[in-house]
Amino acid sequence: MTTSAQPAHGLSAASLEGRVALVTGASRGIGRAIALELAAAGAEVVVNYARSEEAAAEVVETIAAAGGQAWAHRADVAREDEVEEMVREIVRRHGRIDVLVNNAGITRDGLLMRMKTADWQSVLDLNLSGCFLTTRAVSKLMLKARGGRIINITSVVALMGNPGQANYSAAKAGLIGLTRSNAAEFASRGVTVNAVAPGFIASEMTASLDAEPILKAIPLGRMGTAQEVAGLVRFLAADPAAAYITGQVLQVDGGLVMR
Ligand code: NAP
Repeated sequence: MTTSAQPAHGLSAASLEGRVALVTGASRGIGRAIALELAAAGAEVVVNYARSEEAAAEVVETIAAAGGQAWAHRADVAREDEVEEMVREIVRRHGRIDVLVNNAGITRDGLLMRMKTADWQSVLDLNLSGCFLTTRAVSKLMLKARGGRIINITSVVALMGNPGQANYSAAKAGLIGLTRSNAAEFASRGVTVNAVAPGFIASEMTASLDAEPILKAIPLGRMGTAQEVAGLVRFLAADPAAAYITGQVLQVDGGLVMR
């Protein structure tokens, strides 16, 4: 039952008040938009980044200027020691993590015949193993607290494949298996795990792509925005709105892939 002060969808202006959220790769693009969105909903946000210190500081400043709370932490999410140290630092400061968004990702595109082993490995190391490392470190806290939300940013190329992206699509497809296994493992402790699959979103990652053939294939006829992905992440993080959703892959792709 809901009261008039609490809408049925459970998304009040500050539905994440008092929650601590870690967003990996939050200095730019989609991660930045997710950090701003979760902070606007009341969460205290840890802005993870790997190299872009100034950009991460700008995200923190933007959140503070809007009356929110955030701080930045540098960690290469593909490195176990740096992930473990980041989580220890968050625990020192807050004693908890309520929301984890595994967003950090890279592309190293190339046709398979010519793909360098290093380009295969680095994409798998960050996009898939990074999610494993962060989830393993954070889920210990969530399982103990008997609650939490984990949201993994995959991609529609995990569902449809893409020439020149064997490494990226394999990593993103692996992320879907990881999401479902973790959802099944953690459900009894009230921790939900879902994947968000963006289509083509305007960002630095897609800036060099030839837009014309892509736009033709998208029923809504345009690229998506980082804010449109962030809105879904906020919904999945909100309580009680998304409490009964777990193990799902939700697409934000303008209708590109209809299953
Ligand atoms: P982006 O603009 O290139 O930003 C990537 C972010 O990941 C940056 O904040 C970057 O931090 C961070 N990062 C890179 N390497 C890292 C590492 N080793 N450890 C921690 N953080 C690291 O990418 P985006 O387009 O926003 O994409 C964000 C996510 O959405 C990715 O997982 C991507 O695969 C997925 N996605 C994007 C699209 C799209 O159309 N853009 C579509 C589907 C899925 P630094 O700035 O410090 O390097």
